[in-house]
Amino acid sequence: MNAVIQLSYFLAAVLFILGLKRMSSPVTARDGIVWAGIGMLVATLITFFSPGMHNYGWMILAIGIGGGAAWYTGKKVAMTDMPQMIAIYNGMGGGAAAAIAAVELMRGDFYSTSFQVLAVLGALIGSVAFSGSMVAFAKLQGLLKKSLLFPNQQMINLLVFISVLVFGLILMAADQPGGFSIFMFFALALAFGVMMTVPIGGADMPVVISLFNALTGLAVAFEGFVLGNAAMIIAGTVVGSAGTLLTQLMAKAMNRSLANVLFSGFGSGVAETTASGEDGGSMKAVDATDAAVMMAYAEKVIIVPGYGMAVAQAQHKVWEFTQILQERGVQVKFAIHPVAGRMPGHMNVLLAEAGVPYDMIYDLEEINNEFPQADVALVIGANDVVNPVARSNPDSPIYGMPILDADKARQVIVVKRGRGKGFSGIENALFFLDNTSMLYGDGQAAAGQLIAEIKQL
Ligand code: NAP
Repeated sequence: MNAVIQLSYFLAAVLFILGLKRMSSPVTARDGIVWAGIGMLVATLITFFSPGMHNYGWMILAIGIGGGAAWYTGKKVAMTDMPQMIAIYNGMGGGAAAAIAAVELMRGDFYSTSFQVLAVLGALIGSVAFSGSMVAFAKLQGLLKKSLLFPNQQMINLLVFISVLVFGLILMAADQPGGFSIFMFFALALAFGVMMTVPIGGADMPVVISLFNALTGLAVAFEGFVLGNAAMIIAGTVVGSAGTLLTQLMAKAMNRSLANVLFSGFGSGVAETTASGEDGGSMKAVDATDAAVMMAYAEKVIIVPGYGMAVAQAQHKVWEFTQILQERGVQVKFAIHPVAGRMPGHMNVLLAEAGVPYDMIYDLEEINNEFPQADVALVIGANDVVNPVARSNPDSPIYGMPILDADKARQVIVVKRGRGKGFSGIENALFFLDNTSMLYGDGQAAAGQLIAEIKQL
């Protein structure tokens, strides 16, 4: 039986890896999720047959409650709320790893000291990832609106962290760790997760969530060693490295270091500056008729979607408009910034859902030098990712972030509802340029008007 169990865990781990591989392309991503899901099913079912397993009733109840809640929320969640859902699911993973460690620490009797050390490290990382992710969830869900900043905050956080390490060392050294030390260790580790996350601005939450995701993976892998569970070791390592790469990718796309994300309070209202009309321009409105004419008679149009397209669920109308342009002989391309929207790949998923072929979608490096040849750049619901101050104003908090050079197109049409700022909370110099016109309105309604107008021509 043991061989069957180990083989099943191995099979589950292989399915996780193959699933992840398939998730790297939008064409195979849906399959990838299913493969990884089957892997998780195999791992869960086989665990019931592990030697010495009991409490089957509790296990089934927990799986029922967890699975039911995940099924319901997964079906119901809006695409724009996905980051906070990922935060809460990640947090649960970290919390589960910490809970396993708590049980093992209370039981004591470790196979060797290195297993005891891994249990404590996993407990620390898992607890921080759990409570930090809950704060990230609360911030993104709008339950926690302000970033908590107070004097000597970093110093106090450091002291709490040192106290966690002291109790951690006590747990590692003891033959049979005492209840008080275990309680203090977990209480302080959970408090540290909260304290390190509350000062971080909402604008950086997706990066922080990705970091906690990586930490959760590491905690699960450590606890996998403690339990001797190959599936947990492999899945945890894969999640840990994927999360680390994603964190790096996001930080790079925003031209920020991880230390800057964690300790600068960016986006919490502290670092905000305005660039409003810094070159003396003003915002000019355009109506849907003129905007449709500009694009209908263009040779080349580049569409830049952003978070607002997701909020408006405008992707289907944008694709319909694109097809009309193509029928008229206009060359249309989509330009996607790596952090457009609220998570990497956000725009790609929406466009794929609407049926836009993948070969019309270009990454920043592929398309940026094409903007000067474009007659029109249609910016729909994007803001920060096309803000030229990132290139020109060293005082701007987004200075250095690579942006899509929409401002270099001959004409720029920006679809947005009003004067709402982007995620970073700063004004956008693009909107004030001479070659920019604002088509005010909800993304879906505006795209609908463009369709109606172009059909009249
Ligand atoms: P953005 O800068 O957040 O701007 C979105 C714009 O959409 C807003 O200015 C808003 O203006 C407009 N909007 C909102 N609802 C709309 C609607 N119904 N119809 C039309 N327009 C609407 O978006 P972005 O350019 O995509 O930039 C993404 C931001 O998220 C960046 O700052 C990035 O650093 C940050 N971020 C992203 C990730 C990621 O992985 N994607 C990770 C971390 C941080 P109005 O209110 O005037 O309509």
